Amino acid sequence: MRVADISGVQNALPVLAKRFTRALHMPDVANVRNPRLVRALREALLQMSNVELREQCQVSGFIRENGRICGVQTKQGELRASKVVLAAGAWSGELLAKLGLALPVEPVKGQMILYKCADDFLPSMVLANGRYAIPRKDGHILVGSTLEYTGFDKTPTDEALASLQASAVALLPALADAEIVGHWAGLRPGSPEGIPYIGEVPEYPGLWLNCGHFRNGLVLAPASCQLLADLMLGREPIVDPVPYAPAGRLGVL
Ligand SMILES: Cc1cc2nc3c(=O)[nH]c(=O)nc-3n(C[C@H](O)[C@H](O)[C@H](O)COP(=O)(O)OP(=O)(O)OC[C@H]3O[C@@H](n4cnc5c(N)ncnc54)[C@H](O)[C@@H]3O)c2cc1C
Repeated sequence: MRVADISGVQNALPVLAKRFTRALHMPDVANVRNPRLVRALREALLQMSNVELREQCQVSGFIRENGRICGVQTKQGELRASKVVLAAGAWSGELLAKLGLALPVEPVKGQMILYKCADDFLPSMVLANGRYAIPRKDGHILVGSTLEYTGFDKTPTDEALASLQASAVALLPALADAEIVGHWAGLRPGSPEGIPYIGEVPEYPGLWLNCGHFRNGLVLAPASCQLLADLMLGREPIVDPVPYAPAGRLGVL
């Protein structure tokens, strides 16, 4: 990251609002189209002979035997396993509550809007005042996002649409004339200070957590999964696991 000369930035991004006087250049920041990432992950899993993928299969509770967790109850029946990983995003707390434990992971709604512009409208991502515009290669511009503590409701709202539109136009004034082609919301798994829970639940051996990644679940996914796998397999962990350990961070209901 380096301080960038603002006239160079204005030349490179002529659509940027003229009011900005300072800029930082972050050449290492990239973006990924997450629906495509998940589709690619699904395809990769389907090709692994040692993986069985069960979709649309809601977990309703855990199987407990002799103080250990040894499987889950689902609408398709029981599934047994020597180790169970709870990675249910914003819904993780609801599931852990079934074991009488309070996991401080709560849904934090985020709304986004999508514009369609010419392919070369915006050659770089831009971030300002907590909002961002991300150009896709086909001229779609993603503008996000809101932070709302309103429970599990994922309904997009007119208020958020107006707020995101105002941010978009303040950043890139020409978007005032561009078409909005999408508006949706997702739920982030909010956790205290955004620090995820990765590790075994001391109260229930056999139950592991990988949840609470708040605003950074995509970015943190590879390292989180590596750390979890290291811990589950008894290998030397890639980073100090203590800050992420569930021990001492769960309440009793
Ligand atoms: C608007 C917005 C912008 C974001 N931007 C970024 C970003 O720029 N970078 C970044 O890194 N992250 C970003 N995030 C955050 C990121 O999406 C999350 O951190 C990430 O999705 C968390 O991954 P997860 O697998 O823990 O949870 P999720 O992705 O929520 O997945 C949990 C899954 O568990 C399933 N599930 C829940 N309950 C059950 C049950 N009982 N039985 C079976 N399955 C169940 C759900 O259906 C879901 O498929 C953003 C989020 C939003 C909303």
